Amino acid sequence: MQPRQIELRIKRIKRDLMKLGPMRPGALSMQYAACQKPGCACVDPVKPKKHGPFYQLSYSHLGKSTTRFVRPNYAGQIKKELAAYKRFRELTQEWVTQELALSQLRLDLARRKDDEK
Ligand SMILES: [Zn+2]
Repeated sequence: MQPRQIELRIKRIKRDLMKLGPMRPGALSMQYAACQKPGCACVDPVKPKKHGPFYQLSYSHLGKSTTRFVRPNYAGQIKKELAAYKRFRELTQEWVTQELALSQLRLDLARRKDDEK
């Protein structure tokens, strides 16, 4: 791989990063719950019908884990933001990978040049 090719890749990664919309880390899960009130359908002994689904959003940021409920009508937007964050992570990791390769390549090229002297 030539430095130019890697530089081009990095350029593309930066361009893709600029296109990312709103994002947030975490995972969304669906939960069902029983309120346990006597007579409620959720505690029916034969065919219990739990309440829900409730969307639960879990994430950790700066070493702190948080879980919170999300209203169903926001689930779509949250899913988009989670996907954007995932893409952000992929792109930044790829960026670092390419930068490492580029740096190493430059070191190798410089060494070869010195050896030729
Ligand atoms: Zn209930």
